Amino acid sequence: MRLIPLLLTGAIATLTLVAAPPAFAQGGASTPFTLTTGTERTPEQLAVRFDKADLAFTVRPVTESIEGVATLDFTATAPLTRIVVELDTVFAIAAIAVDGQTLAADQWSNPDGRLTITLPRALAAGDATAIRIAYAGQPHKARNAPWDGGFVWSTTPDGKPWIATAVQGEGCDLFWPCIDHSQGEPARVDLHITVPSDLSAPSNGRFLGKTDNDDGTHTWNWSAAHPDTYAIALNIGPYVELTAPYQSRFGNTVPLHFWHLSTDKPERAAALFAEFPKMLDFYEATVGPFPFGDEKMGVVETPHLGMEHQTINAYGNAYKLDGKGYDWLLQHELAHEWFGNQMTNATWDDMWLHEGLGSYMQPLYARWLNGDRYMEAELATMRLTLQNRFPLVSGRAQDSGTVYTDATGPGLDLYYKGALVAHSLRLLIGDEAFHRSVTRLVYGRADPRPGNFRPLYATTPDFIRLVEDEAGRDLKWFFDAYVYQAALPDLQMTRAGDRVTLQWVTASGPFPMPVEVEVDGRSRKLDMRNGQSTFSAPASAHILIDPHNKVLRRLDFVDAWQARQREEGPTAPRH
Ligand SMILES: [Zn+2]
Repeated sequence: MRLIPLLLTGAIATLTLVAAPPAFAQGGASTPFTLTTGTERTPEQLAVRFDKADLAFTVRPVTESIEGVATLDFTATAPLTRIVVELDTVFAIAAIAVDGQTLAADQWSNPDGRLTITLPRALAAGDATAIRIAYAGQPHKARNAPWDGGFVWSTTPDGKPWIATAVQGEGCDLFWPCIDHSQGEPARVDLHITVPSDLSAPSNGRFLGKTDNDDGTHTWNWSAAHPDTYAIALNIGPYVELTAPYQSRFGNTVPLHFWHLSTDKPERAAALFAEFPKMLDFYEATVGPFPFGDEKMGVVETPHLGMEHQTINAYGNAYKLDGKGYDWLLQHELAHEWFGNQMTNATWDDMWLHEGLGSYMQPLYARWLNGDRYMEAELATMRLTLQNRFPLVSGRAQDSGTVYTDATGPGLDLYYKGALVAHSLRLLIGDEAFHRSVTRLVYGRADPRPGNFRPLYATTPDFIRLVEDEAGRDLKWFFDAYVYQAALPDLQMTRAGDRVTLQWVTASGPFPMPVEVEVDGRSRKLDMRNGQSTFSAPASAHILIDPHNKVLRRLDFVDAWQARQREEGPTAPRH
């Protein structure tokens, strides 16, 4: 089951671990509140527009600590007397100023990681304010990034600092003051990252140059439009940089950048870099324009496996080849530039829109490169992993821990069941309707071109509405069964003499999913109106249901295999 090392299976596991108190700590370990993300926003957070975050970090590898100065620009959308952001209590806050006026210590409090600041002057709707927060400390360390995230303080083989952050499961508040919710995206984030001069600090967005501080450090300056909150990432190391321009099929030129560690096999880094334009062309043909073409497609080698940091994707797959014909990790993380960063789920309950559609892009890419066999092989491997214990979508706003923990949410099914649902949907409604639905979901329009769209939020009902519009028919039954129910639809066959009856059984009501059968090698299509169909076939005939595996459904042989796995423990990876 080598294909399972997918991202973030254990985000909530951090809650049960006890961290050693950091030397700079204000309040010991990160609180459970800090270590989850997507908790419902406060009324104060719902009453602001987050215009900009200007984030200056000094990163000190020797003490594994940071100093931060964050200036947060908000515009009130309703009368407001307080500003509320999230920031890990492991940091000591040196000072908070509002519009240049330093606050007394009793004008703010941060008991559990939700920092409440009383404004010296109430804001009316439309008023802007700038909140400056200076803080320092040892940020939460990742136990097992990217699944269990935080800071990774690593070293290169030759002993140089090699540092990364990955905070998808815990949120932006692990190292900067933010609204730790998927809808908390600032319109812009500027970054100023100060690091020892022999290290590089590639980050999100456009590079605005670096300055020499004449004290053995340099400051790297970046600016990113509409970054996903957990996409803001620090990456620091003695990097070698590869660059090239990419000529898009949409007419624009996208700068490609890859920061990697020096290696005695530079041809491997070059081969991965050569995959960038091929993957971009697939995504631009399949979904639409690369969403951040005026910034860059950036990738940085990290000490952890990977994460979809907007325009600075983390790559830690060590240039492995696995016979698929492409680097699955890079291809998966790149998917999130469309499914995650351009189109962001409204709450974590809609996470399958990121991970399911994003994971479907790998088998589709396998087909794009090498044909049906390689797509089908990936889909078959995915099928073996489905747990079907919780529906992909609950219909309620959820935080990330609830969604990713197997005991409370769909966990890995977000990826593979999501991908297989997308596959069945594509084969049901056809390529054109499927691709147009996905394009409209991602860009909010069917004709995206560079410059005519901005990042947006989406929900599962948004997607269903688009699919029904493009397919020109009601598909509530499809999503009710596959997305809002845990159990897979079950196609039951009964034979009485030469009468054969196929009947769909679901917990969600009628399921008119058409299915093809082969009767002694002869194909026939059953429309399954009302969820069932009867036909005649000799009692001795061999009947093969769904010969092209178009329809996701419960399968006896997979259930039996999974039961055996549970009984005997996982077997060795298959060849
Ligand atoms: Zn992913």
